Amino acid sequence: MTTLFPPQVPTLAATSDGHEFPVRRVFCIGRNYAAHAREMGRDPDREAPFFFTKWAETVVPSGTTVAYPSETTNFHYEAELVVAMGKAGRSIAATDALNHVYGYATGLDMTRRDLQFEARDKGRPWDAGKNVEQSSPLGLIHPAPEVGHLESGSIKLTVNGAVKQDADLNELIWDVPDVIAYVSRFYRLEPGDLIYTGTPAGVGAVVAGDVVTVSIAGLSDCTITVGVPANA
Ligand code: MN
Repeated sequence: MTTLFPPQVPTLAATSDGHEFPVRRVFCIGRNYAAHAREMGRDPDREAPFFFTKWAETVVPSGTTVAYPSETTNFHYEAELVVAMGKAGRSIAATDALNHVYGYATGLDMTRRDLQFEARDKGRPWDAGKNVEQSSPLGLIHPAPEVGHLESGSIKLTVNGAVKQDADLNELIWDVPDVIAYVSRFYRLEPGDLIYTGTPAGVGAVVAGDVVTVSIAGLSDCTITVGVPANA
């Protein structure tokens, strides 16, 4: 038997100490900062956590020029703390969750906001709005023994140097242990899984040529340039 075409090559993220981190799956937490939930028109005090997923291949390294996606006129940035899982587990207790973490990175959950809102308001899936090609830029993954477990510290996003998002990780409604515990109730988490933990207030649109940088205290920055639409 022969393989008909080359199997998909796994996405390899980079760690701060020179290793490759094979990305398995991407989970994204929605509306996890109160001020952002309000800017999305929702009441953060009345919501259970929720998540959606993206393909691993949406993960691209810092420094990438992200092509402006098709079928949108409202492409948004979302700065996020990303948790990289290092150890498998199902129904992980929050008290044990940090033992399953490999490390942390800065990331972006780039979004076709117009399609996400249309889907949300019609009760349809979010895939076209969220599971967008090149939509999960990721900075270097810093091992937890290097940077510790992040409970607080600045998370900031700039567009062309202007500050657009400026918050603290201690504002997360569901913190890292809570998020791991929650997602692992539904899926057995595996090494290589990434959890994008949600974005603070201040999301907005980008245009071709914009340079977007996410900074989180203690971690490497994640920077992208917004490109022109892909034509092939
Ligand atoms: Mn997000």
